[in-house]
Amino acid sequence: MAFEGLSERLQNAMAKLRKKGKISEADVKEMMREVRLALLEADVNFKVVKDFVKTVSDRAVGAEVLESLSPAQQVIKIVNEELTALMGGEQSQIAVAPKSPTVIMMVGLQGAGKTTTAGKLALLLKKKQNRKPLLVAADIYRPAAIQQLETLGKQLDIPVFSLGDQVSPVEIAKQAIQKAKDEHLDYVLIDTAGRLHIDETLMTELRDVKEVSNPSEIFLVVDAMTGQDAVTVADSFNEQLDVTGVILTKLDGDTRGGAALSIRAVTGKPIKFTGQGEKLEDLEPFYPDRMASRILG
Ligand code: GDP
Repeated sequence: MAFEGLSERLQNAMAKLRKKGKISEADVKEMMREVRLALLEADVNFKVVKDFVKTVSDRAVGAEVLESLSPAQQVIKIVNEELTALMGGEQSQIAVAPKSPTVIMMVGLQGAGKTTTAGKLALLLKKKQNRKPLLVAADIYRPAAIQQLETLGKQLDIPVFSLGDQVSPVEIAKQAIQKAKDEHLDYVLIDTAGRLHIDETLMTELRDVKEVSNPSEIFLVVDAMTGQDAVTVADSFNEQLDVTGVILTKLDGDTRGGAALSIRAVTGKPIKFTGQGEKLEDLEPFYPDRMASRILG
C-alpha cells in the first residue's frame, strides 16, 4: 500500500504525544524530530521537510496550543492542516475553454502512464461529465503508442485522431482541433511524445504543440514510484512548459510518498488526479485533505 511506512511512523509519533496529558516544548520538539525522519525516509524533498517542520513547530509551541485543554489533539490537528496545505489545499477542477473545444495536453516521460491516463481522463469526461472527448495520437516516435491509443479508443468507444507517424505533431494537433470543431466535440486530449529522459528536442516539440493548440490544461503525468526523480522531472517540465497540473500515477503501488508530498511545494503546481491502477476506471481526483487524513490514520 502507498505511504505505509510514512503513515506508520507518523502515527507512532502522534500516539506518543497523545499519551501525555500536558505537553512541553521539548515534547513537541521530540515529536517533530520523528516527523522529520519519517518524511525524509519517505523520500520527501529535503527543503520541503525543513520548511514543513518549521511551520508546524512554530504553530505548535504557541501558548494557546500548549496550555489548551487537549494539547496533543491540537498539535495533531496542526500537522494534519499543514500536510493538507503542503499538498495544495482545495482540490482542483478541470478547466473549460470559453469556446469549445477545450484542449488538454498530456505530457510526461515514457512509461509514466501518459497514454493510459489520457484514456482514463477521456473516460472520466465522457462518463462523469457527459462530455465528448477526442483522443489525439501525437506521439509519432513510438509507433506502439499510436496503436495503444487506438485500442484504448475502441475499448472506450471514444474517437481517436491519428495521422500515422509521418506527419508532425504540430500538424496533427492543428487538424485534430479542427476536426473537434467541425464535429462539435468538447475536449481534445493530445497524447504527446514521451522520452526516457528530458531533452531539448522533446521540449521544443512540446512548446510548439502548446503554441498551436492553446491548451487550457497541460497535465504532467509522473510515476509516483520514482519518488524524488518524479519531482525533478516535474520541475523541469514545469519550467519549460508552465504545466497546469500534475497527475500522479501508480499510487496503487507501494510508493513511499515523496512525490505526492513534494511536488506541489517544489513546482507550485497542484496534483489534480491520481492513477490508482491499470484499469481505465482507476483515476481519482486528488483531495489533499483526504490524503492527509489517510496518512495520519
Ligand atoms: P506512457 O509511456 O507514459 O504513455 O505509459 P503507458 O500509458 O504506456 O503506461 C505504462 C505502464 O504503466 C502500463 O503498463 C500501464 O498499464 C501502467 N500504468 C499506468 N498508470 C498506472 C497506475 O495508475 N497504476 C498502475 N499500477 N499502473 C499504471
